[in-house]
Order: sequence, then C-alpha cells, then structure tokens
Amino acid sequence: MTAQTTPETTGSTAPVTDITHWIDGEADAGHGERRQDVFNPATGRASGSLHLGDGEDLEKTLQAARRAADSWGEMSLSKRMGVLFRFRELVAAHTDELAALVTAEHGKVLSDAAGEVARGLEVVEYACTMPQTLKGDYTDQASTGIDVFSFRQPLGVVAGITPFNFPVMVPLWMAPVAIATGNAFVLKPSERDPSASLLLAKLWKQAGLPDGVFQVLHGDKEIVDGLLTHELVDGVSFVGSTPIAKHVHETATAHGKRVQALGGAKNHAVVMPDADLELAADHLSAAAFGSAGERCMAISVAVAVGDAADAVVEKVGQRARDITVGDGTESETDMGPLITPASTERVRRLVGEAEADGAAVVVDGRDLVVEGREEGFFVGPTVLDRVKETMSAYEEEIFGPVLAVVRVDTLEDAIRVINANPYGNGTAIFTGSGHAARTFQRQVTVGMVGVNIPIPVPAAQHSFGGWKDSLFGDLHIYGPDGVRFYTRGKVVTQRWPHENDESTASMNFPSN
Ligand code: NAD
Repeated sequence: MTAQTTPETTGSTAPVTDITHWIDGEADAGHGERRQDVFNPATGRASGSLHLGDGEDLEKTLQAARRAADSWGEMSLSKRMGVLFRFRELVAAHTDELAALVTAEHGKVLSDAAGEVARGLEVVEYACTMPQTLKGDYTDQASTGIDVFSFRQPLGVVAGITPFNFPVMVPLWMAPVAIATGNAFVLKPSERDPSASLLLAKLWKQAGLPDGVFQVLHGDKEIVDGLLTHELVDGVSFVGSTPIAKHVHETATAHGKRVQALGGAKNHAVVMPDADLELAADHLSAAAFGSAGERCMAISVAVAVGDAADAVVEKVGQRARDITVGDGTESETDMGPLITPASTERVRRLVGEAEADGAAVVVDGRDLVVEGREEGFFVGPTVLDRVKETMSAYEEEIFGPVLAVVRVDTLEDAIRVINANPYGNGTAIFTGSGHAARTFQRQVTVGMVGVNIPIPVPAAQHSFGGWKDSLFGDLHIYGPDGVRFYTRGKVVTQRWPHENDESTASMNFPSN
C-alpha cells in the first residue's frame, strides 16, 4: 500500500464551525449547554463544535413535530409529492456539497461520498411513487350491499437515530418514506459527522416542506433516551451498533412505540474454487477496504473453499498492497482514515490478538503513517489468513479495513460457519455454479444475499434489513417495508342502506 503526501493542505488554521440543531424550520443553537468537538479524521483536528440538546430542546422539537404532523398528514398526496419531487432535484444538484461535508467529517473519499448521496436519492425517488404505493384495496359487494376497503394512515411523529458511517444515505433511507407517507420526522444524527444533516434540512425547506416536518436534533444518549420514552414519539427507526440497537428496541417498545432497530454486522463472502478468482479478488478487496471497512455491508470475512484459498490470499493481498491511503479530498486516494483514534486502536488490538492466536498477518496496515497527515486516524488495509471462529478478530465487528480469511473444505462447511455467526446482515457467494449459488441463497440465515455481488444493498423498491443480531423488529427499512413501518392500516366495512331495505340486524355474530 502507498501513503499519500500533500503537506500544504493539512488545514492547521481551518476555522471551527458552530453546528446547531434545526428546529421548526430554522437553525437553532438550543437550550442545552453541552458541546462536543467534531473532527476531520484525515487531519486529526477539530473542525466543528456541536451543540448537544437537552430536555428542553427535545420538548420544543417534539411539540413542533406534533403540530406539523397534524397539518402535513392532512395535506393532499399530490401536494406532498410536489415537495418530494423538488427535494429530489435539490439533493441531486447539491451532491458535491453534500459529499464534501461527508468527506470532511467522516473521511471517506469524495467519489464514495457522492455514491452514498446517489443511493440515498434512490429512496427519495421511491418515495415519489407514493400515490401508487399507498393506493388501498377495495372489495365491492363483500356482502349484500356491503363494501370493504382498506387504506393506510401516517403514524404521526417518528424519530430516526443514525450512525456515523453514512451521514447522508441512512437518514435518506428513512426520512423520504416517513415524510411522503404523511409523518413528521425528527433526525438524531451521529454526533461524529452531523453537518450534512443540516444541509438536508435546508434543502427540505427550499423544496417547500412546511416547518417542523423535518427537524434535526443533535445529542448523545440523553436525547436518544428522551426520544425512546417521550409520549409524543410514535415510531423509532434506528441504525447503528448491535448493543445500542438492542437497547433502542427494548426501551422504545416498552414505551409503546413501533421500532425497527438495525444493528451491526459481520459479512462473509464465500469463494468457491470454480469462481472467477480475479473478479472475486477485485470485489473482495473493494468490499473489504472501501470506506476503510466502515460499512455495515463491508465484507470482513472471506470464506475460501478448498483450492480457492491460496489464490484468494495471494490475489487479495496484492490488491491490498496497491491501495493508496490518504486524505479523502485528494483525487489519488483510494481509502481514507477511520472515524476516531479509538477505532484505529480497536483495529490494531484485534489484529494483534489474531496474530497472537495463530493467524497469519499477510498484509499489515497497523503501522501506516500518511506523510503530511501524521495526526490523522489512519490504519492501512490488512489481510489475515487462517483465521479461526474462536478468535476475537472473527467474533467482534472490527469495522475497519481488515479482511479475515477463513479456510473451509466444502460449501456446506461455509454455510455452517455463516449460519453459526450471530450477525446476519449481508453475505455473498462467488461461484460459476448456479447450483452452488441456489443452495447458498436458500440455506444461508442472512437477510441480504449477493451472487457474484459483494455488497448486495437492495435497490430502493425492495427493503433493506438483516436477520439475527443485525435487526431487531419485524420490518426492514425503506421500500415496501418502510411504507408499512411508517403507516397504520385501517379497514372500513360500509353499508349505505336504501329506505326500502329490510333491517338485517341479528343477535348472531354478523356473517356473510
Ligand atoms: P453507534 O451504535 O455507536 O451509534 C448509532 C447512534 O446511536 C448514534 O446516533 C449515537 O449517537 C447513538 N448512541 C450511541 N451510543 C448510545 C447509547 N449508549 N445510548 C443511546 N444512543 C446511543 O454506531 P456508530 O458507531 O455510529 O455506527 C457504526 C455501527 O453501525 C456499526 O456497528 C455498523 O455495523 C452499524 N450500522 C449498521 C447498519 C445496518 O444497516 N444494519 C448500517 C450502518 C451502520
């Protein structure tokens, strides 16, 4: 791997931005007095000072959301769609600006940040289909003179609590569907990269969204727990790590709310000996090291079957060494920094523990220093071979640029390894055999499966969600499940009797 040098742009004197909430249609510094620094992970310097909300800010935000939900939910679908279409155009036009904010606070390379905006836009486009998607059902003459019809209504006020790794895409997995279906949406973004959420808020306003329908309230556990327990919140969408997802699901359901809580992941890619191994190595490398491995759908384990193993280790190792690590704003950079110094320490610790437990460190990124960015939060791509299921580097979600290779003899062994893992977000198989692919897709206990596709994030007209410890709740996010999540079904059985009709009232239970 190579480290990139651009000492003249280290930004040592860059100003620190004041990052506020967005409440009831405007920037609002809030009542809470606590602040948290936001860093540029490539330089290691504080770039922003974030206002953390308190109970008073929560109350103000939720009262505004409640008022807004009442009028927005009553607005015609056609007027709501006008806002969604304008928002779609504005997000597309501001892609570069959004991507720059993401790169400045998250660290991923600009083209990758633009890619996350594009995937978020797909959900906005899906939300623009709501007149068709929300069309109800109608049964004419279900009984004599009686018709039955069903339709869906908004929940009311819904909250979205999001992780640091996709500061634009994950909020856009939630808000467009929630808003198109008539809800008011309160976003609690990650406190590590909060600025893009404020640009989204401004774009919603510019698109004509009434004040209070989309709000941003910054904070940590205090605000999250407030949202989970407040009587004005009807539903909670959460995306983040598994322990917090469990906490969110348990607390919010105990307070009578509808909850979908997406958790962490350990995504395995099986490589069969009959696969195109060059293609597999290209995709494994991109899926393991893209965004420095900080993707919930990153491939962190390659399960190499039989003869495939030596070639996989050799070819992926070569690609890992060729990756240019540096500041995500530089065009030559393939991979940026991690989000915090704690993340780099976690990666180094887990690689060290794997080595001590007998794994081979084929490519070692632990000591990488990027010239001109010595204070940045960098580790380099790392490949571990002969990893066992009992090692901490296998058991824990590393969330860094580390690919662990587990060697097995057969496809059945590979499926056993994956199904024994507590996570079940995404998985993939690389093979030339339709039979192997079909066996895999049917038997694996994982929510999203790729066949010769390493990161099978479903298109927006489907829904995204894992199994097991990767999702708590019944409904997946965006797509048709997203519409179900943000709405309640209602069924009406109606009769309009004519004056000459005889009464059919009976003490018996009504039957057809
Ligand atoms: P995180 O769980 O630390 O934080 C997520 C959100 O929860 C943030 O808004 C944060 O402020 C809040 N939070 C953190 N600690 C809390 C606490 N003790 N009580 C209440 N709220 C708390 O996750 P992260 O580090 O921001 O993101 C990375 C994690 O998210 C990884 O585990 C990754 O796999 C997961 N993730 C999952 C998906 C998915 O679709 N399943 C998508 C993206 C990220």
